[in-house]
Amino acid sequence: MKEKIILFDKTFKPFIPYSKIEKAIDAVAARINKDYAGCTDIPILLCVLNGSVMFTAELMKRLTFRCELVSMKLTSYEGTNSSGKVRQVMGLTSSVKGRRVIVVEDIVDTGATVVDLVDILRGEGASDVKICTMLLKPQVYNKNITLDYVGMEIPNDFIVGFGLDYDQLGRNLKDIYVLDTDGDGTPDTLKEIKNEGKMKYYILFGPPGAGKGTQATSIAEKFNLCHISTGDLLRKEIAAGTELGLKAKSLIDAGSLVPDEVVEGMIENQFNSVKGVDGFLLDGFPRTIAQAEALDAILEKRGESVTALVALMIPDETVFERIKHRASIEGRADDASDEVIANRIKTYHEKTEPLINFYKGARKYHEVQGLGGIEDVRGRLFELLEKF
Ligand code: AMP
Repeated sequence: MKEKIILFDKTFKPFIPYSKIEKAIDAVAARINKDYAGCTDIPILLCVLNGSVMFTAELMKRLTFRCELVSMKLTSYEGTNSSGKVRQVMGLTSSVKGRRVIVVEDIVDTGATVVDLVDILRGEGASDVKICTMLLKPQVYNKNITLDYVGMEIPNDFIVGFGLDYDQLGRNLKDIYVLDTDGDGTPDTLKEIKNEGKMKYYILFGPPGAGKGTQATSIAEKFNLCHISTGDLLRKEIAAGTELGLKAKSLIDAGSLVPDEVVEGMIENQFNSVKGVDGFLLDGFPRTIAQAEALDAILEKRGESVTALVALMIPDETVFERIKHRASIEGRADDASDEVIANRIKTYHEKTEPLINFYKGARKYHEVQGLGGIEDVRGRLFELLEKF
């Protein structure tokens, strides 16, 4: 790799060597070959011009099933910043009606282009759309479309090479280069993506009784986060006899959820009022897809996004056992009867569990085994959270 590359007014330094790119493409191709092995139809590879031209060519060489190439051209970039606007510059070169399509992208950042592509392809009658991208910027990806095949994850930096350009230059570089902002010329490695300097927004997820409350305090302390438990906030409102508390009480006592707007308002108030922390640990929120969407909207207004969802998973039998045990210690009204516990478990499966796929789609889902001693589970949680 060359030391540095100058394109117009900018200097770029080495970032991902071709050898690494090839390995990532090998892995993606192997997964696609496995998924499409023995197919009787002829799936379409949709090359999204111009950026993915190199990736598409390399990928196609490795595919072992019969496939067809279709291209189209969209643009969402002006200079080095994503403008967020997607324009269709050249339509599909062939019909996709009734066909399975694998979209081949060079890079996905916010995901605006992917959303438009899926809309266009569905509108044109594609029978199935899968997304394959060589690079993903998970820190800025904020859409809920599943990215089926991802070559490599990279930080939110501006890069050129291997098809990617800076104002049309740099596409021909075999390796990938990153904008040299510090001028030290030190090659970046594909280090773990750290969201340095940005507020962290973690969701501690899991069925009732998974141990979220038990673990939350120590996590919040270790990572300097504000722990927000919507259940605790609601119980405080009930204890204080506020209007909100009175309204929430009957729902909570029955093991049902309180209305989305109520908890969304509480969360936004906390984000606005708590200072001096490195982020927030949400416990018991979001509990519905609508709440997850509202959370995305609240964070988008603040220029932030969910860092990760951490799921503490235990089986249903354990849920029941643990809540019964907690009832004998804490005396929570909604832990008291078997019927109410059963309703909470049912509400969890029906309304809350769909969040797993929602966050998997956003590539923010991480699971930790919730069975075992408190210290063991804590250790696993700490180990995972250290990575962000
Ligand atoms: P928790 O302490 O998290 O188990 O919450 C206790 C109860 O508060 C739940 O069973 C719900 O009735 C209510 N609650 C807590 N968080 C939410 C939420 N995000 N959405 C709706 N209801 C909630």
